[in-house]
Amino acid sequence: MSSGTQIVEKARAEGRTTLTEIESKQLLASLGIPTTDTRLAPSREDAMAVSREVGYPCVLKVSSPDITHKSDAGGVKVGLADETQVAEAFDAIMASCRAKYPEATIDGVTVQDMAPPGLEVIVGMATDPQFGPVLMFGLGGVWVEVLKDVSFRLVPLTREDARAAITEIRSARLLEGFRGSDPVDVTALEDILLRVSEFVAATPEVREMDLNPIFAYPDGAVAVDARVILGE
Ligand code: ADP
Ligand code: MG
Repeated sequence: MSSGTQIVEKARAEGRTTLTEIESKQLLASLGIPTTDTRLAPSREDAMAVSREVGYPCVLKVSSPDITHKSDAGGVKVGLADETQVAEAFDAIMASCRAKYPEATIDGVTVQDMAPPGLEVIVGMATDPQFGPVLMFGLGGVWVEVLKDVSFRLVPLTREDARAAITEIRSARLLEGFRGSDPVDVTALEDILLRVSEFVAATPEVREMDLNPIFAYPDGAVAVDARVILGE
């Protein structure tokens, strides 16, 4: 498996500043951060064949360097139960994305396994002109926009920093279990923050990272979407 640095260098050598979802997830996997098994399928037939390997239910997403908000473009279909649904999802994604972004280069779709529902959280990294790399933690999904309930820490983070960033958000009670749901694995979220922190501290080429969302479970957590952006 390629190291995070190799993935970054390959993109730079090709003159790209945005890593694809697949590259971003390969990078996370190389850091020990769990992600969904995600593969590229350029055609409808490929998508059907790859879905048989990945298994059901699966998820299809548009793969395009020009489309960053995939669901806004009609480019995400979840809960696909068989090959026929995969074929239909492929056609629907292509039609919607071509209509919304006629100029976009579309590489095809990614086929990935569908993560079981969990509490959606996000981890982000941005580069502050004065302070350098900063990590963000917050609730994911619609809540991030509605509540703006996020916390920030400067890189490098200690485990105590990571824990504080997670537990200081206003909705932290949701992490402790709510109306009968089990508490989420906060240590797994700390591990993700620490691994991202360590990686960006060692890799100044990385300007921005988005793990949005991460599904948090009572045991573990998995990043189902990822985006990494390099500096010019
Ligand atoms: P966007 O580019 O719009 O951010 P995402 O890849 O985040 O697209 O997908 C949109 C939503 O679909 C996610 O917030 C998540 O709820 C759901 N989703 C995406 N990938 C998966 C997956 N592999 N398993 C389960 N749910 C997923
Ligand atoms: Mg996303």
